[in-house]
Amino acid sequence: MQGSTKALMDPLSTRYLPLAQARLRDAADPLFSYRSEFFIPHHAGEDCVYLTGNSLGLQPKAASAAVQAELDDWQRLGVEGHFAAKNPWMPYHERMTSSLARLTGARPSEVVAMGSLTANLHFLMASFYRPTASRYKILTEAKAFPSDRYALASQLRWHGFNPDTDLLEIAPNGPGGTHLPEDFEAALDKHGSEIALMLVGGVNYFTGQVFPIERLTSYAQERGVLVGWDLAHAAGNVPLELHAWKVDFAAWCSYKYLNSSPGGVAGLFVHERHHGAETLRLAGWWGQDKSRRFLMEPDFHPIPSAESWQLSNAPVLSMAVHRAALDLFDRADAEHPGARRVKSLALSAALMGLLDRTAQTTGAALEVFTPRADHERGSQVSVRFPGRGKSFFDALTERGVVADWREPDCIRMAPVPLYNSFEDLSRLESILLELLTP
Ligand SMILES: *Cc1c(COP(=O)(O)O)cnc(C)c1O
Repeated sequence: MQGSTKALMDPLSTRYLPLAQARLRDAADPLFSYRSEFFIPHHAGEDCVYLTGNSLGLQPKAASAAVQAELDDWQRLGVEGHFAAKNPWMPYHERMTSSLARLTGARPSEVVAMGSLTANLHFLMASFYRPTASRYKILTEAKAFPSDRYALASQLRWHGFNPDTDLLEIAPNGPGGTHLPEDFEAALDKHGSEIALMLVGGVNYFTGQVFPIERLTSYAQERGVLVGWDLAHAAGNVPLELHAWKVDFAAWCSYKYLNSSPGGVAGLFVHERHHGAETLRLAGWWGQDKSRRFLMEPDFHPIPSAESWQLSNAPVLSMAVHRAALDLFDRADAEHPGARRVKSLALSAALMGLLDRTAQTTGAALEVFTPRADHERGSQVSVRFPGRGKSFFDALTERGVVADWREPDCIRMAPVPLYNSFEDLSRLESILLELLTP
């Protein structure tokens, strides 16, 4: 895709992606029509250049009818809706299963829509962080998303260990503050026998770096370490094969790339080899064997699937939105297999290209620190604007660009394939040229 992006570059223009060329690319994009399935926020009467699908995905237009349908059934049926609703609420979470399995490369028995991300990480660690006197450390990446670090440090304390010594954090020693997989492997070689759990973000929320999940999973497992991945920035963004990669467990949220509403229901994966009753779970009635759940017996018989990690009955309204959003992924992927990833790489390559070109033509110092190789990135492009503070970011916002600012000089932008366009990027380029031309 980088090649075809180059071919469209107009050598006579100071622009990388002139508007006419951007529109030609949109016209040739098989996913372009999906943009109209989403509400695009407006700024000064025009569509925003919305580049924060990595933080909060946009609302599918089908969401409100999906929620209204459940409200109507509740209004009409009351408690009978558990069985008599158009989509009965009792097994409501099952409506997400096949889509989540497809998006994460799992078997249907290995995934469930439930809970929220950080809470799910704790539930999963209750099962998979089982420290002993000799094997108790946790390996993670330095500069992990703060919630993940809080969760890991509190798990260590919860079990009587000390995060200062027992949380091994791999420093970002790669180019631009990225992580080197070799550094994880070296730590596993050195401390493997003391490490109980490795938990890492599959796509780093800050740099946008995609980790080699399969490689690090098997390297850790060969040293007796259980392996979990936080897929908050990976689910709906990059291809995943959790079953084939033999990942022990994973969790994600649905409100970023999966467009399923702020704080919307999350999801988790547990590899089928852990589904037996011998795996300890923090239990609740929704994890109870379905044929016995309403016998109201005192003993817990876990469903032999990831569903047994459920504690509570499904948040139906949130799941209605999730279903509406997942429908768009299912439809796009069925109509145009592979196109989401191809377009994601093309958009992010075009974004990096226009940033490079803007630096050249304006002399502005800016540095893309997301890895450039396709296999090491998804939709997100992270860029430093050294010497330009928050006022630069505010000027972008005033012109209708919705991006994400991180002190002291970083901006994260994530053009996503289902609703961003090349025209968005062309407009971004005009605005950058306006702001950065001396
Ligand atoms: C977004 C994100 C979270 C947020 O956690 P919630 O429990 O959904 O609030 C946690 N971890 C990572 C890596 C994230 O990117």
